[in-house]
This record gives sequence, structure tokens and C-alpha cells, in this order.
Amino acid sequence: MHPARIRNIGIAAHIDAGKTTVTERILYYTGVEHRMGEVHEGTAVMDWMEEERRRGITITAAATTCAWRDHELHIIDTPGHVDFTAEVERSLLVLDGAILVFCGVGGVEAQSETVWRQADRYRVPRLSFVNKLDRVGSDFERVVDEIREKLGARALPVQIPYGAEENLRGVVDLLRMRAVVFDRDSLGADYVEEEPDAEHRARAEAARAHLVETVAGEDEAVAERYLAGEEIPVEELRAAIRRLTIAGLVTPVLCGAAYPYVGIQTLLDAVVDYLPSPRDVPPPQGLNPKTGETESRKSYPDQPFSGLAFKTASDPHGDLTYVRIYSGRLKSGARVLNAGRDRKEHVGLLFRMHADERQSVPAMEAGEIAAVVGLKFTVTGDTLCEAKHPIVYERPHFPDTVISMAVEPKTNADKDRLAKALAALAREDPTFRRHTDPETGQFIISGMGELHLDVLKTRLLKEFRLDARISEPRVSYRETVTVATERKGRFVQQTGGRGQFAVITLRLESFENDEEGHLVFRDSTKGGVVPREFVRAVEKGVREAASGGVLGGYPVINVRATLTDGKAHEVDSSDLAFRAAGSIAFRECARAATPVLLEPIMAVEVVCPEEFMGGILRDLQARRAEVTELGQRGHLRLVCARSPLAEMFGYATVVRSLSQGRASYSMEPCAYAPVPTGRAARILGA
Ligand code: GDP
Repeated sequence: MHPARIRNIGIAAHIDAGKTTVTERILYYTGVEHRMGEVHEGTAVMDWMEEERRRGITITAAATTCAWRDHELHIIDTPGHVDFTAEVERSLLVLDGAILVFCGVGGVEAQSETVWRQADRYRVPRLSFVNKLDRVGSDFERVVDEIREKLGARALPVQIPYGAEENLRGVVDLLRMRAVVFDRDSLGADYVEEEPDAEHRARAEAARAHLVETVAGEDEAVAERYLAGEEIPVEELRAAIRRLTIAGLVTPVLCGAAYPYVGIQTLLDAVVDYLPSPRDVPPPQGLNPKTGETESRKSYPDQPFSGLAFKTASDPHGDLTYVRIYSGRLKSGARVLNAGRDRKEHVGLLFRMHADERQSVPAMEAGEIAAVVGLKFTVTGDTLCEAKHPIVYERPHFPDTVISMAVEPKTNADKDRLAKALAALAREDPTFRRHTDPETGQFIISGMGELHLDVLKTRLLKEFRLDARISEPRVSYRETVTVATERKGRFVQQTGGRGQFAVITLRLESFENDEEGHLVFRDSTKGGVVPREFVRAVEKGVREAASGGVLGGYPVINVRATLTDGKAHEVDSSDLAFRAAGSIAFRECARAATPVLLEPIMAVEVVCPEEFMGGILRDLQARRAEVTELGQRGHLRLVCARSPLAEMFGYATVVRSLSQGRASYSMEPCAYAPVPTGRAARILGA
């Protein structure tokens, strides 16, 4: 397939907005699926993991290929639940465009905002699809306004709903001013075009005028005709909207209702019309590991091969690695380079994927998504390339883990199997962390929320059939410092044989920063008092010491460590000595710098009917929550709050019982804050 006819897209949404249903409908209408899957029956093809079926949520991104209007669409299924935003994140990295699904009733919810910001970070052009417009209380206009206000996006409706709520029949295409009506008896497979009725015609004309004006405001070609008072040909308007979408200046807004089969084919048209092909987006930038120079590759098959591994799925027949091919051609049987790890990899079989079905192919080209069997060292985020033309692409950004649990195998035989199972899970999901507690010898696994850990637990017990005791989830605390200090670190041993000599001075201060694992290291020494190679050793020692702070052994974050001075010895200095001096100096500083314990704070958003508001608020206040916003979401009430994670365990059950199951909520880590003193003493004493 010519790259100009390829669309690599993702579908992202707040949980329950209808992403799975939209995907199912797309697979059905493009002929991939011959039976319509329904989420609530647990037959959705994309939700192929047993665990997902049971929960009715999508947590693992699978890539699927389908065809529409002579184009090849690769859909990367992105998860809806915020515990799995890292999955969204790594999918976004390899996408050229995305569809954001919004609920026509719920509108722009907290998770939609998170996903939107992530898509901004990776500059992913996107379409907005307002779904569920068949539901009572749905309101297309209101959601469009929310996209503008809450997301700060230039929302450009290119359709309006034809009918509303239970009378929704289709959509009015504003470019062509035609109503597209979907036939429910054929499950939406048949649709006809008609002249919109007078009422919709009037509304559509107003909306179209606004559309043309907005496009003219951004696009010169259209502006010229517009100012001259000329009619703008539909094709020109479409081309202009495509340019603006790809440039990230507008998001075309479409409407429909996936469940009753409205607006899916018109959404597919928009994917082809407005979202970029691999050729339309700037070539990804990477570093040449040999020269350290920034380079890029063009999306052409005759270029040297390069691609990014963005997902690993463990499979009884060998791990499947999903690779987005950026340039060149990947052949089965080829030898490629994992440039970041400097290891050669042998590509076994190559597959084009449809959920858990696969089609073996001899080669795949730039722009495509391949599933590879046979890679040994490659994990999510690694770059693969031709050995003669090495390049390393940007790695996805992963949020912190804030919650952990201990896993203890019941027998020694299970210990080995547990280690293997955890390694397999880690290859699939780089957002969960695992380590062994040096004191208890237990395996500790940490994740981004209760649900994340719960899914991992179920997979360990069910999928890997392990017999293990698993503790209740616990909060992952952090430590930081509150005053700036400067201390010396000496590691000197000069008795007999070869000695050790390293002396450094380190300054430690509080510093808010999102990068480098929350610890920034700087070298401000002058005149080479500490030789270059030893500076790296000092940094290593500092980071090691920071991984377990002086209060309770929790990682130290939000600090800046500056190497201000030092002394080396011509013979006796070594990496080892400077590493030790770095660790010593860090601990000395940390002890003197009034360290405090930090706890993860969650941003919580609850939407509920008015009558449950009081109960929900009282309960939140009892959880040390700070209410940040009270508002209205359609006819429902909205509460936004920030609350310590420690107080939010089991909240899902509580919310359900407080609202007779009618409230919905979302929660994600947003910050760290000092633990109140008395409480901190209890935690550290325990
Ligand atoms: P996801 O969590 O975003 O993947 O959402 P799902 O596709 O699982 O949909 C959540 C629920 O909403 C399911 O029960 C769907 O049947 C239902 N649903 C999805 N789309 C629509 C729609 O357009 N109208 C209505 N009324 N319900 C829908």
C-alpha cells in the first residue's frame, strides 16, 4: 500500500464514552469482523484479553488493520482507563492521528483532558467524535463548547446531528449539506443520503457559515475566495480542513451514536479525508548513537530500515513485539540492530495483526505496524534499525507508580515461576515496577492505581497460574528535603596496596522538576578538579543513594544535587571511590536538610445526581480531600477534589454504595504533598 493511503490512528476516550463500541463498529463496516460485537455481551474483538472481557474495559493496546475507501487503516487500540495512561502514551507516540471519543452526555471528562494533553505533547492531529447522541440529555453543542473551553482546542464541527436523542437518525454533512441517514435494520451497514428537512437545513447553514469563516481565518487559499465573496468548492474546503487538522490548528468535530449504528462510516470518511498519512507528518527525530547528532528518516521504503517497538505481548509461542516502521522495509529473517542497547536482533516471523488473529507476511514497509516474533532483547520504547544506519528514537514518557503490593510465592518452585511471570509482565507493561525488598526478600510490584495492581494480581493468579500470597496494596511514599545544605563526601582508604581516594562536596536543595526521575544532577566544578569520568560515577552514587531516602528508605524526589567541589588522586582515584563518595555526600546532605515524607495526591472527579451530592461531599471531606471545584455536568453535579491516595483505597465500592450505583468517578495521580507530621511519624514508626 502506498504510504499516502495509510492511516495509523488511535482511538482514545474517557472510560465508557464508547471507544470499544466505536472500534467494533469500524471493524464490522470495514469487513474485518463478520459479526457485530457488543461490549456488554463480552464479545468485543479488540478486548481480547480474558481479563479485559471480565472487566469490560480495554487495557492493552492491540493493532488492527482494516480498509476503507481504498485506504489502509491501522487502528491502535488505546486504553480508556486512566490507570493505564502510559499505554495511551506509548500508543500516541507511534500514531499519526487520533480519534477522541466524547460522551454526548458526559462531555469532556477528566480523563479526556489527560489524553488530550498527552496528544498535545506528541503533536498528534485529532478528530473529535461526539458519541451517544441518542441518549436522553445528550447535547452536541454543549460538548463542542466544552472542547473549546476545557481543552482550549479550536473545535470545528463538520457535521451536526440529524435528529436528537431517541430520534437521532443520522448526521448532516456540513460540507456537502446532505443528511446521511443510517438504517438500523441492517445494523447501520446501509445508509442513504437525503435533503435535510427545513429545520435542520437552517441550523446546518448557520453552522456551515461558521465553519467557512473559521477556515478562512486560518487558510490563505480559502480566505482569498471568502473575502471576494465567492463560493468555496467543497473539495477546496476539505483540503483546507485537512491542512489545518494536520498542522494541529483545528480539530474537526463529528457526531453520532455508535451503539445504535449512527455516524461510523462518516467518521471513517473523516479519517481518510482529514487525518495524516505517514508522509504528511514530519519524520521522527532520533539520535545517531555513534555521532550523538540528531537525525531523521524519511517515510520511504527505499530508506534504511528504522522502527520503534511500542508494545510487547507475551504469547505462548514467543513474545510478540509491535513495531511501528518509520522508514525502509522490515523483512522476516532479517538481522537488525537494537541501537539503544547495541545488540543485534534476529527478526523471526512478521505478522499483520487483527486483535488476536495474525497474518504472516514476508516483509512490511514504512508507515506500517508489524508484529514481530523472535526478538530477544527488545522492550517497549526501543528503536530497531539497520546496523549500518543506527538511530535511536524518543522513548515514551511514563508516569510514576504510586501504589505497591508484596507478592510472596508459597513454594520455592513458584519463586522461579513468579520471577519469570513478572519479567513477562514487565516486558508488556513498562509502567509497573518490580523489585525485591532487601529486608523481607518479598517481591514488591508497584503500579499507577488500585485497578492497575488488581489487574496485575488477577493475571498472575489466573493467567500465569501462580500460587502466591499477595498483600493489600500500599501507598508508595516519597521523600524530599526542605532546606538547602552542602556536605562533603569522603571515601579514602590508603593503607597498603592500591588505595581508594575520592573527596567531593555536594549541595542538595529542593527543586520541582518532572524529568530525570525527579532528581536533577548538575556539575558546577571548574578546572577539572573532578575528572569527567568520575563526575558520572558521582552522579551514579547520588542516584543510588536517592533511591532510598534517610527517613524510611523511600525514593527522594524534587531535589537538585550539585557537585560543587572535589579532589582526585592520580593513582588511587577510581569510579568505585567516587560512586561511594557521591552516596555518602548525598546521605549526609539529606540528613541535614530537614527531610520530609511525601504522599501521592490524586485528582478525583465525581459526577452524580443532585440527591447524592451531600453524601459524596461529606465522605470526601472525611478523606482529607480538598474540594477544588463544584459544578454542573448536564443535569448531573460535578465534584472535583484532590485527596491523598492513602485515603482513597476501595473508593470504587464506597462511591457505588453512596449513590446507589449512579455516580461515576475517575482518579489519577497529580502531585506529591508532605504527609501531616503526626501521620508521618506513625508511618515511619511502623
Ligand atoms: P469504552 O469504555 O469507551 O470502550 O466504552 P464502551 O464502548 O465499552 O461503551 C460503554 C457503554 O456505553 C456500553 O454499554 C455501550 O453499549 C454503551 N454505548 C456505546 N456507544 C453508545 C451510544 O452511542 N449510545 C448509547 N446509548 N450507548 C452507547
